[in-house]
Amino acid sequence: MLANRWRTRLACLLLLSSDLALAARPRPHALKRRNPSYSPLSDPSLEQLVALSSLDDALDYNDPKSLLAKILVPRTVGSANLTRVQGVVEGHFRKLGWHVEKDAFDDDTPYGRKFFTNLVFTHDPSAPRRLVLSAHLDSKYFETHPEDQFVGATDSAAPCAMMLDLATALTPWLDGRKKRVQEAGGEEGFDGQGETLQIVFFDGEEAFKEWTHTDSIYGARHLVEKWSETDSSPSAIRSTPRSPLRRISHLVLLDLLGAPNPLIRNFFPNTGWLFDEFLHSEERLGVTGYLWDGFEGQAYTEQKGKLGVRERSFFVPRASGQMQGWAGQIEDDHVPFVQQGVPVVHLISVPFPSVWHTIKDDASALDLPTIKAWALILRLTVAEYLGLDPTGRLQNANVKRNKGELFDEAG
Ligand SMILES: [Zn+2]
Repeated sequence: MLANRWRTRLACLLLLSSDLALAARPRPHALKRRNPSYSPLSDPSLEQLVALSSLDDALDYNDPKSLLAKILVPRTVGSANLTRVQGVVEGHFRKLGWHVEKDAFDDDTPYGRKFFTNLVFTHDPSAPRRLVLSAHLDSKYFETHPEDQFVGATDSAAPCAMMLDLATALTPWLDGRKKRVQEAGGEEGFDGQGETLQIVFFDGEEAFKEWTHTDSIYGARHLVEKWSETDSSPSAIRSTPRSPLRRISHLVLLDLLGAPNPLIRNFFPNTGWLFDEFLHSEERLGVTGYLWDGFEGQAYTEQKGKLGVRERSFFVPRASGQMQGWAGQIEDDHVPFVQQGVPVVHLISVPFPSVWHTIKDDASALDLPTIKAWALILRLTVAEYLGLDPTGRLQNANVKRNKGELFDEAG
């Protein structure tokens, strides 16, 4: 991940911003508004959601058996460690019964030809639309010792572990919703579900040397290129958007999370509503006491505005206007998606954690209550986005729309 050094690289920055502004001119998209299947989770379902899986199993980095502990090793592109960690991630999703896709490719780097593998997991590959959650699995390469032991705890081991927890927790609800939709005869004019959850682990996000357009985000660039290809089979034209990229309703990118007191801003006006949903999830979980031990109701509300207090809100409200001046200035895996018009929410702490790209970005930089809070915020927002509430009314089932009408705009 690159923060443009705004003083010394201002010219470059402005260029990037205007490039992005041009490229990101919103294309007509089938989902301009709030996802129609969105509805708030009922109170009993919220209680269930929190208990769907043990947060510690995935996230307690002090326990060597946890998933996060297994990711916390140096795992640079092409290393045996990265292969091992990719194996842990793949095994996790296979056990949960998700569809597994490996996007393997090679590319030129400052150190010659290197091999990369993006991992793509899809709950229901037959669903035409995908909500994508994503983070990069590789850790940054450093040539010399001790920096070569860099484990990238916030960058992005913790976000990857949060996505593993999300899959564990939501799989039973995703399975349940799929079954209910099938029993109801499909939704939105399709035989099955309109939308599913896809989780992507990018390879090669980090630059090998200095961050440039060619030495960075190898995996994201490759995936966007591959997913831009049009599927010209007759059935694809009839019933689904014509490229995998067009099937993405929103891409949520997680990066530099897991340290206490993150500050998350909204960078893209077209996804402001979804940014707000993350904020609302935090608020509801905070007030109900699920987020922070010892803080609920009034106690939570009183703490959440106070800077320097762990329990304060992670999010900078959009109304504060603090987004201005940042949009388009942070280069990360989302950039090629934004350039192709995919709606993006970038959950990244700005300013970056103080340990960023130093050997100190290890377990000692992490805060377990903060990581658990993130995991619950993700669970709630995704469950509501996809209408997973098992006690809720099945949204949109039997809304029989003409298949062609859904994606006319998206092309
Ligand atoms: Zn990084």
